[in-house]
Amino acid sequence: MRRTTVLAAAAVAAAVWAEPSGDRPDARHAWAVHDVNRPDPVKITADEGKVPSDAIVLFDGTAESVAKNWVDAKGGPSKWTTKNGEFVCVPGSGPARTKEKFADCQLHVEWKAPLDDAGGYGNSGVLLHDGAYEIQILDSWKIEPSKSPWKPANYADGQAGAVYGQNPCLVNPARKPGEWQTFDIVFHPPTWEGEKLVDPGSFTVFFNGVLVQDHWELEGTTTWLARTKKWTKSPEGALLLQDHGNPVPFRNVWIRRIPSRRANTTNGGPGVRAGDVAKLRAELAAQSLAFADETDDPAEKFIRLWESFCYRPDAKVRARADIAGDALVKAFLAKDKRLDDHKLGAIRRFVAMLVREKFLAKDDELVKTFEGR
Ligand code: MG
Repeated sequence: MRRTTVLAAAAVAAAVWAEPSGDRPDARHAWAVHDVNRPDPVKITADEGKVPSDAIVLFDGTAESVAKNWVDAKGGPSKWTTKNGEFVCVPGSGPARTKEKFADCQLHVEWKAPLDDAGGYGNSGVLLHDGAYEIQILDSWKIEPSKSPWKPANYADGQAGAVYGQNPCLVNPARKPGEWQTFDIVFHPPTWEGEKLVDPGSFTVFFNGVLVQDHWELEGTTTWLARTKKWTKSPEGALLLQDHGNPVPFRNVWIRRIPSRRANTTNGGPGVRAGDVAKLRAELAAQSLAFADETDDPAEKFIRLWESFCYRPDAKVRARADIAGDALVKAFLAKDKRLDDHKLGAIRRFVAMLVREKFLAKDDELVKTFEGR
């Protein structure tokens, strides 16, 4: 029984290898489903317990990483201390600010509420875009339910992991003071087209591995007491760690630049542009035509010509695809050895797709030849 399951899994794995028969490109999608021509994601390494290989390490426990990456609010050397692998806020010295600016990013920060804070609640914060948007840092371990209007420094939209003043955490996974805690933050800044705000920007936050902000769309810059309804217009800004008068320690700070959600203009999503889709489809049609011209394999020539036609319909290419279809039927009937089982399976699914898309009729000679192969 187990053996059968393993074999079935292997069959599925073979079937997803180089599969050209998915739904075709359309006005919003330059690529077909499972398109074999679609570029692979850039390969990085993300080994257990290690920083992803494409991350910028902003603090690795060393004074060198502070000198390299951080300045004070005026651009001078950071006055925060580095000891025992920790980067610690010196109250009154102002925020720690990155030299580099960032736009859309994934950010990892570890922090802890200090034990010796004299009732200060370990207030700090992770601020994106030159300080405009804050994810709050605060000791939120011991939250006291209170009916008093003078609830201590733990209003819900000001606890750790809150988008400050806007959105409390979905749940509170805070740990005790003195214990390390993690923020993994995805930030998208506001996007403008001229004077028009087309995307207000957003925060997604995992706090100690738990989702606490689920693509929260910003309602303006974050600040005490006010709904500002103001947004930054700059495409990028520095990352700041807040000095709110408490000696909050940090470690393991790294950041990855990521694309805007509107950067993909050719295949679905919020940034898709019909003109970009059409342009890429034309380029892909030409590429598939070149592939068809290079090959003598009857199956590959047939698929590449149809592929080209589906990227960009062209009567001459369609006429060539029909001729290639006749040649493919002849090769099959002549038991051409190049048409192995794997290729025959792919051709059958490809032909079924052509029928589904109404490019071929069910009684077409080609369809009848490869049905059920
Ligand atoms: Mg704060």
